[in-house]
Amino acid sequence: MRSSEALDRRGLINSPKIGVTAALREETESIAQNPFERFVRTDSDYVKGVSEAGGVPVILPPSLSLRAAEARLDGLDGLLLSGGPDLDPGYYGEEPVPELGTTILEWDALEMALLRLALKRGMPIFGICRGMQILNVALGGTLYQDLPSQFGADVINHWQATPKCQYTHEVEVLDDSYLAEITDRQTVEVNSYHHQGIKGMAEDLTVAARSTEGVIEAIESRDFSEHWLVGVQWHPEGMCDPGSGHRNVFEAHVCAAERHASRGAAA
Ligand code: MN
Repeated sequence: MRSSEALDRRGLINSPKIGVTAALREETESIAQNPFERFVRTDSDYVKGVSEAGGVPVILPPSLSLRAAEARLDGLDGLLLSGGPDLDPGYYGEEPVPELGTTILEWDALEMALLRLALKRGMPIFGICRGMQILNVALGGTLYQDLPSQFGADVINHWQATPKCQYTHEVEVLDDSYLAEITDRQTVEVNSYHHQGIKGMAEDLTVAARSTEGVIEAIESRDFSEHWLVGVQWHPEGMCDPGSGHRNVFEAHVCAAERHASRGAAA
């Protein structure tokens, strides 16, 4: 009792819980040397981003069964879809092109199922990199399987060789977008680690930012009163400058999750 009161004073009990999707990685080459190399893991910067915004991060392993995934969502107020490998293009009705990167079918299936359940529940969803792409596809949109070979000759380099706290290109934030409102910016400096991008937008989503040559770099709900959905193609969790506007997106997501939780409690 006493410890729960202490927790409550620190605001933890009422903080919204944000599910953070994690990857199943098998370091198969080293299993012979070390049998302890099969990890469920997520970049700790996602965890830090949620925590610093006032949320409680809950890591969701991709090895959950569908029933377990649904039960797991019961205790959560928001979902953060993390970055990762390419999505199976079958989800948007295409055959793979030779430039398609690694796909992990089991991960795709479980993350897509989790996402569809979260959408059905009206849970605030924030997608980062692959997370933005899968969000668009789950709602009916499509992707470029490979920007350098499919987008056009003027595509800039979207796969930087430098650390993620460094930006390598700018994005133009659309006037009147929700993203412009929460970041209070017309341009945002971003890191870039993607060879895929959004091609066709899902009907319920709209473009919030583009790179200078026109690649879609952020998406959001057409109607936030219906559903809080935001996706960014860059990795805001890795951009540490507090004045850069990147933290604002995490904060907005946590606030939306808090509102979602209080609506659930009132119902
Ligand atoms: Mn980019």
